[in-house]
Amino acid sequence: MKPQEKLKALNQILEHCKVSPFYRERLPGHPLSSLEELKDIPLTTKEDLRKLSPLGLICVPLQELYQYHETFGTTGVPVSTWFTREDLSYNAREITMCGVDFNDDDIVLVRFPYAISAIAHMIHAAAQMKHACVVPVGARSAVSPFPRVISLLQKLQVTVLTCLPLQAVLIAETADLLGKRPNQDFPALRAVCTAGEPLSAGRRRLLEDIWGVPVFDIYGMAEIGTAVVDCQFGRPHPLEDYFVIELLDEDLKKEVKRGELGYLVVTALKKKATPIIRYLTGDRARFVEKKCPCGAKVSLEIRGRREDTITMGGRELDLWDLDEIVSHLPCRRFWVVGPAPGGLHFVVEKEREESNISPQLVNTLENKYKMKLYIDVVPKGTLYDSSELLSVGVVGKPQYIYSAAEMEQKKYIKSARM
Ligand SMILES: [Zn+2]
Repeated sequence: MKPQEKLKALNQILEHCKVSPFYRERLPGHPLSSLEELKDIPLTTKEDLRKLSPLGLICVPLQELYQYHETFGTTGVPVSTWFTREDLSYNAREITMCGVDFNDDDIVLVRFPYAISAIAHMIHAAAQMKHACVVPVGARSAVSPFPRVISLLQKLQVTVLTCLPLQAVLIAETADLLGKRPNQDFPALRAVCTAGEPLSAGRRRLLEDIWGVPVFDIYGMAEIGTAVVDCQFGRPHPLEDYFVIELLDEDLKKEVKRGELGYLVVTALKKKATPIIRYLTGDRARFVEKKCPCGAKVSLEIRGRREDTITMGGRELDLWDLDEIVSHLPCRRFWVVGPAPGGLHFVVEKEREESNISPQLVNTLENKYKMKLYIDVVPKGTLYDSSELLSVGVVGKPQYIYSAAEMEQKKYIKSARM
C-alpha cells in the first residue's frame, strides 16, 4: 500500500472510531495530513481497554456484531473484543498471508483452546478460507488429552499442527513417551504453525529439530488481530496493509531508531466493531532491515514483554537471549532460569541418558556470554510432570523466568552455590 493510500485508510478508521466517546475525546476534529501526525494521538493501553470492556468501545450498530472474544485474563481482568462479519473475514485473511500457505490438500489440527479466546477460531477460519480441512481438537480440555492428539496426528495424516510453541514441545514429549519418533513417525506432517508466545530463533530451531519440518509463526492478539506473519522463508514480516506499526522508546514519546528494541504500538486499519488506535501491546520488538528472498525488505522480531526479562549486572536478557544460551546445551526442551551471583542459574531437564553438561561446555559458554552460569541438570519429569502428559495434559501459560525466592521454593536450588 502506498503512503497516500495508507493515510486515506487511517483517516477512514479514525473517523469511524468517533462513534466511541473514548476515541472521540482523543482524536483531532480534522483528518490527518500525514502519517506522522498519528503520533499526536494518545496511546491506548490495556487498562483503557479493560475499563471500556465489555461494551464501551463498540463502534458499529449492535445488529452488526457477529462474534465475541476475550483475552485469557492471565494478567488481570479480561479485555473484550467484538467482531463484525467483515472483521472476522479480515482477521482470517491476515493469517492466510502466512508462509505456511494452507491449501486444499491440508489437514490442519488446531491445538489452541476453542473456549472464549480468539486464536483457535481465527486459525480455523483462515485454514478453511484456503480450503484446508480443519481438525478442531482444542486444548485445556478433558476431551483432548495429549495421547489423543498423537493418535489424531497419525490416523488422520495431519499435515499442519498449529499450537503454542510450548505445546509443540509437549506433544513431541508425549510422542516420545508413547514410543514414537516425532521426526519420523508422522510422515504426512509438513509444517508446525505456532502463535501465542514469542518464538525466539533458538526455540524455532528446537521445534524444527524435534519435528523435522519447518515452523511458521504468526503474531497477534485477540484485540488487534494478526499483525506479523512468517513468510515462506520463516521470516516474520509485519502486515503493513492492515496495520500502522510503531516502535517507541522507554518514555513512549518517540520512535526508536531502525534496528533498536522498542515498545510495539499498533493501529488496526480494518477493525470496525471495536477499533484499535495506537494500542500499546506490552510487547517489545525490533525491525530488521534485510531483504528477504520473498521480496519483503523488513522483518519484525517480537522479543516479548519487559516483565519476561531477567537483569544481570546491568544487562537485560529476554527470552531470545535466554533461548540462545540454552540452544548450546544438549537439554533444550524444558528449562527455567533465575538470578545467581554474577550470572544466571539454569535448571534444565535431562533429555537422554547421555545428555550431560561438561564443565568445559559451561566454561565456553561463560566466556561467550561473559557471566557465571550455574547449570543444574534434573531428571526427566522434574519441570514438567510426564504423567500429566499421559492423562489430562498440562494447563496454564508457560513460565521460564523465576525470582531467586521462587527458585528456592521450587527446590531447584540445591547446587546453585548461592
Ligand atoms: Zn520473507
